[in-house]
Amino acid sequence: MNATHLECANCHKNYEAGKLHNLCLECGKPLFVRYDLKKAAQTLTTDSLRNRQADLWRYKEVLPVENEENIISFGEGWTPLLPTENLAKKLPIKLNLFIKDESNNPTQSFKARGMSAAVSMAKELGVKKVAAPSAGNAAGALSAYAARAGMQAFLFMPRDTPKANIIECEQTGAQVTLVDGLITDCGKIVATRQDAEGWFDVSTLKEPYRVEGKKTMGYELAEQFDWNLPDVILYPTGGGTGLIGMWKAFDEMEKMGWIDSFRPRMVSVQSIGCAPIVKAFHEGEIFADEFPNAATVASGLRVPKAIGDFLILDALHKSNGTAVAVSDEELLNAVKEIGTSEGLFCAPEGAACLPALRKLIEQDFIKENERVVIFNTGAGVKYLECF
Ligand SMILES: *Cc1c(COP(=O)(O)O)cnc(C)c1O
Ligand SMILES: [Zn+2]
Repeated sequence: MNATHLECANCHKNYEAGKLHNLCLECGKPLFVRYDLKKAAQTLTTDSLRNRQADLWRYKEVLPVENEENIISFGEGWTPLLPTENLAKKLPIKLNLFIKDESNNPTQSFKARGMSAAVSMAKELGVKKVAAPSAGNAAGALSAYAARAGMQAFLFMPRDTPKANIIECEQTGAQVTLVDGLITDCGKIVATRQDAEGWFDVSTLKEPYRVEGKKTMGYELAEQFDWNLPDVILYPTGGGTGLIGMWKAFDEMEKMGWIDSFRPRMVSVQSIGCAPIVKAFHEGEIFADEFPNAATVASGLRVPKAIGDFLILDALHKSNGTAVAVSDEELLNAVKEIGTSEGLFCAPEGAACLPALRKLIEQDFIKENERVVIFNTGAGVKYLECF
């Protein structure tokens, strides 16, 4: 509709829209979709949004699908932004604390946003078979959207992925392979087999559209806060797609004149057992080294090497944000604390934001009365083995 071209996020080489792409052919880094935002802003106005559907396709002018018939949707997105009085009261300072509850999405995690965009585009571009490595929720979402699109999905997951993720993929028709290794090992299998098998690789940021689906979290936050972005966003970071996407969304909204140059301080939350971004951020690196012996019960955070590492780190720096690691014990305890105070059974990844928030208050990074959003990225019921 309004996509003009794709652009490498690293070397800025341009690529034609409306064609299948994976990584930049020059430098091997992710590609971003670029839009004619002037044209988009003619029909997509803050007023026009009042009457639109309650899912992420309400922002269709800044999403990549050309022909609306290709949209594969279960009504993903437009999730609740929950104010949290009980939980906020337990903190040492007074805060306006919100939980963006992504467990409300189809397949119970925010991976649905990315997969809706990626599978819709795959359909538009004639793909019949999709493949991906996954720590769990991405596989569940891809399997569901592929089934609805009439595509075959080939999924590679670590053998110790939460059982719910594996079963939902099998029950929604995907071909599942369990791998003795990490998501990075699964990714290598997809990369080596995709040509021979005719698969389109939809790994995080290795195709340009999942990040477009996830960027809608940034649009939604702005809209739900009446176009005044919050002061701080805590985001449980694996591949970083959502954080990178929100950062892109803020830029697009500013170009459309919806918001000014104010940006929330972006915070990456990771587990001490797998904290490549935290380590790189505090060492002042531009890229993150692969994290050795990655291990955490928060499977979505078990990403020892993220291809978008430089984009995550850039957003943390430019926003005056930071990165925090918490232990598995802290994040599991937080599941129960959030559940007990707010009635929300969070994914361990989302719960990790609470101990991170406490550390940031202690460090005086977060001040009294600030508006803080923590992302609950998925549903606790997918992780019964943890409890
Ligand atoms: C995938 C996942 C994450 C990490 O998301 P990224 O955007 O890849 O950083 C966090 N929480 C849950 C529940 C996930 O499934
Ligand atoms: Zn490039």
